Amino acid sequence: MAKTETKAPAKEEKASNGASTKATNAASKAEITIAEKLVELFRLQHFDSQVDRIKTQRGELPLEVQDLEDEVAGLETRLKKIQDELAELETNVTDKNNFIKDAKATIKKYEGQQGKVRNNREYDSLSKEVEFQNLEIQLAEKRIKETKSLIDTKKVVVDESTVLYKERKKDLEHKKKELDDIIAETEKEEKDLQKKSDAAAKHIEERLLSAYHRVRSNARNGLGVVPVQRGSCGGCFNAIPPQRQLDISSHKKIIVCEHCGRILVDDYVVERVTGEK
Ligand SMILES: [Zn+2]
Repeated sequence: MAKTETKAPAKEEKASNGASTKATNAASKAEITIAEKLVELFRLQHFDSQVDRIKTQRGELPLEVQDLEDEVAGLETRLKKIQDELAELETNVTDKNNFIKDAKATIKKYEGQQGKVRNNREYDSLSKEVEFQNLEIQLAEKRIKETKSLIDTKKVVVDESTVLYKERKKDLEHKKKELDDIIAETEKEEKDLQKKSDAAAKHIEERLLSAYHRVRSNARNGLGVVPVQRGSCGGCFNAIPPQRQLDISSHKKIIVCEHCGRILVDDYVVERVTGEK
């Protein structure tokens, strides 16, 4: 037991003179004490939690904006396709109308020729041509009627799609503005915090850092390092046995919650970090 005491990093007592402070600093540089490791870990958690809070503020908005963007793009493509189809159908109608005009001119020409024929055979032959042209005209008129009814149906679809498109586009602009406002408000703060988090992480050894990230990513609240609060784990709120609480505040080793695996820190570590600014 006496052996561990020599290794134990006592709380940093206020140095009575400059020399002893310097000595302490030199010693901790050689080997970072557990207390300092815990402070670094909690500092990292402190900044990461603030970044988390900003991201929570943004919430589902980025996803909602993405979904709306996809939907608007889809509606745009659909509208363009139907409008192309409509244009083609209208060209069809124009073509058929031109065809009818030509056929009628041809009929007029044949009827004129009938007045000048020399025999019945020629006359009958022209009559057959006229009859044929009339049938063609009837067929074209039937097609025009069908196409026009198809155009009417498509126009209804275009109208409905246009209304939906405009609605969604408005929703999108609204949500986008909301998101842009939140980002503008918090962007600088988030970047600063992220920088501080990155800087804090640099001071932490790989093994501890990956343990922290592992616990944090499994936890809904993003907490990997938590304070002991009224004798309980600040992450899962399970009670911590008194002996374990003593071990935590002695800073002899890194102690995790038996229930949730989060790294536990005492008030000393919390105050070191939260009292920094
Ligand atoms: Zn716990």
